[in-house]
Amino acid sequence: MSISDPTRTIPNEDLTRQYAMIADEIMAAVKAVLPTGRYTLGPFLAAFEKEFAEYCGTEYCLGIANGTEALHLALAACGVGPGDEVISVPNTYAATIFAISYVDATPVFVDVDPDTLNMDPALIEAAITPRTKAILPVHLYGHPVDMDPVLKIAEKHGLYVIEDAAHAHGALYKGRKAGSLSHVGCFSFYPAKNLGAYGDGGAVTLNDETLFERLKMYRYMGQKVKHQHEFVGFQQRLDEVQAAILSVKLRHLDAFNAARARIAGRYNAAFADLPVKTPVAQPYCDRHVYYMYSLRVDPAKRDALRDWLVGSGIGIQVIYPNSIHLQPAYQRLGLGPGSFPVAERARDEVLNLPVFPELRDDEQDYVIERVRAFFGAV
Ligand SMILES: *Cc1c(COP(=O)(O)O)cnc(C)c1O
Repeated sequence: MSISDPTRTIPNEDLTRQYAMIADEIMAAVKAVLPTGRYTLGPFLAAFEKEFAEYCGTEYCLGIANGTEALHLALAACGVGPGDEVISVPNTYAATIFAISYVDATPVFVDVDPDTLNMDPALIEAAITPRTKAILPVHLYGHPVDMDPVLKIAEKHGLYVIEDAAHAHGALYKGRKAGSLSHVGCFSFYPAKNLGAYGDGGAVTLNDETLFERLKMYRYMGQKVKHQHEFVGFQQRLDEVQAAILSVKLRHLDAFNAARARIAGRYNAAFADLPVKTPVAQPYCDRHVYYMYSLRVDPAKRDALRDWLVGSGIGIQVIYPNSIHLQPAYQRLGLGPGSFPVAERARDEVLNLPVFPELRDDEQDYVIERVRAFFGAV
């Protein structure tokens, strides 16, 4: 094995590079908002909502304060409440599952497909009970869930489907965008997401007008008419400055996603002969947007490879290192280790390599060289 280069550091994510590239456009957007004196529910939010709905191919979009609240408000607006069950997956960010708890419903987990690590539609029906109200799949790492079978089961049982599209801005399933495939799509604009604000942000995308009107009221204190509170709503709006910034960044999203996919393609080719599993886009996936590039290795070697790469100056993430069903927060569900073998094994296999759009070719080459060197392949 060749030795690491102590002078190199390659971040897992570096948001300063993108900012430097688009700083003029961003500052122009901020400067357009600040003198107006209007900082919430104004024209910049309305414009972004129209643009993002158009981008996703939905009738409506509402800007929400963050992605967690997008999920929470979507569940609330669908009428999910105490005693209800929502089917989701154990290998996701805590926000997906916490949102279910925020409406006092119970999360019910199903295991995932061993190739995509997304919700396995074949396991959904066995998890449905008379209390099931919704299905909440996650387009993990930017690869869409196989939605047709999910939607078919939902229709048969009269369930809502809410997509957690926080990793999947621009991802395509059978030609259609993530976020447009179900009753409500939920997005996060956390800074490191494929489309990120300079602060917190989120959105819901949908086609149903009644649901849209309800979500709008949930977002703003249960009001349809100002000062008239129909129910206990929330205060979870996306602000004008972030909306203006997101309008700028939305214009670059396809290029950013293409850059991520190009890097992923280079990694896949470079690792093809190694004893690792690289991400594969399924036939129904017309665009994988690589929020994460997840290399999967034998769990017995995973931590050694991580340490080797970190020791070489390469930023590595492991998402998500702890299964949500095994967290103290969900001890009451009584789900022990081994409940979801595919998701739990994948948790111990994955390493997330740097894949952000501005990662330079020479940096990619170095990542490739270091991974290959670990396996004695040079
Ligand atoms: C980022 C993320 C969220 C929550 O988004 P925030 O904007 O951080 O609240 C929800 N689900 C998944 C899968 C995420 O990655």
